[in-house]
Amino acid sequence: MIGGPGVGKGTQCANLVRDFGFVHLSAGDLLRAEQERPGSQYGDLIRSYIKEGKIVPMEVTIALLENAMLASGQTRFLIDGFPRKMDQALKFEESVVPSKFTLYFECPEEVMLQRLIKRGETSGRDDDNIESIKKRFKTFTETSYPVVEYYSKKGKVHTVSCVEAPDVVYGKVKVIFDKLFSENN
Ligand code: AMP
Repeated sequence: MIGGPGVGKGTQCANLVRDFGFVHLSAGDLLRAEQERPGSQYGDLIRSYIKEGKIVPMEVTIALLENAMLASGQTRFLIDGFPRKMDQALKFEESVVPSKFTLYFECPEEVMLQRLIKRGETSGRDDDNIESIKKRFKTFTETSYPVVEYYSKKGKVHTVSCVEAPDVVYGKVKVIFDKLFSENN
C-alpha cells in the first residue's frame, strides 16, 4: 500500500485486516519500533532519516519487514508504506517475495497537509511538523511516486482517491479487494 503522508493508510489497513485477515505490517511503525529498541545499532540513523522525511536505507527496512513476516508464521501480508523507493521494490521482490498488487491512495497535498497538522496535535511524532511534512511531500513526489508508475506499467496498481471520509474511501477499497479475492479463491 502506497500513498503520500497523511493519506489515511493506517485507518484503511485496520479495516482491511478486520475484513480480510491479512497480517498488517507498517514500514513506518517497524522503523519507529526499531528506533526505540534499546541497544539498536540503527536507532540514531532511523531517527535522523524520519525527521528529514527521507527514505531509510533499504537494508534496514527490508530486514525489519522480512523478520516480522517470518515471525508472524503467516503467508498473507498487507504491507503499508512500502515500497517507497525503486531500489527497495526491486530488492524485496528479488530476495523476499513478489507482490501481488499495489493499492495506491491518491490525495492532493493540501488535504494531506490539513490531516497531518491535525494529527500532529496529538501524535507525538517527530515528523508531524510543517518542516518535516514539506520534506516528506517532496520525497513522496520525487522518490516514491516513481514506484507507483513502475507497477502501473505492469498493470498491478489499483488507485483509490482518499479525499472523502474514511468510510467512503473504504467502501471503494472493499469493492477492489472483494473482486480480487473472489477471483483468486
Ligand atoms: P509513515 O509512518 O509511513 O508515515 O513513515 C514515516 C517515515 O518512516 C518516512 O517519512 C520515512 O522516513 C520512514 N519510512 C517509512 N516507510 C519507509 C520505507 N518503506 N522505506 C524507508 N523509509 C521508510
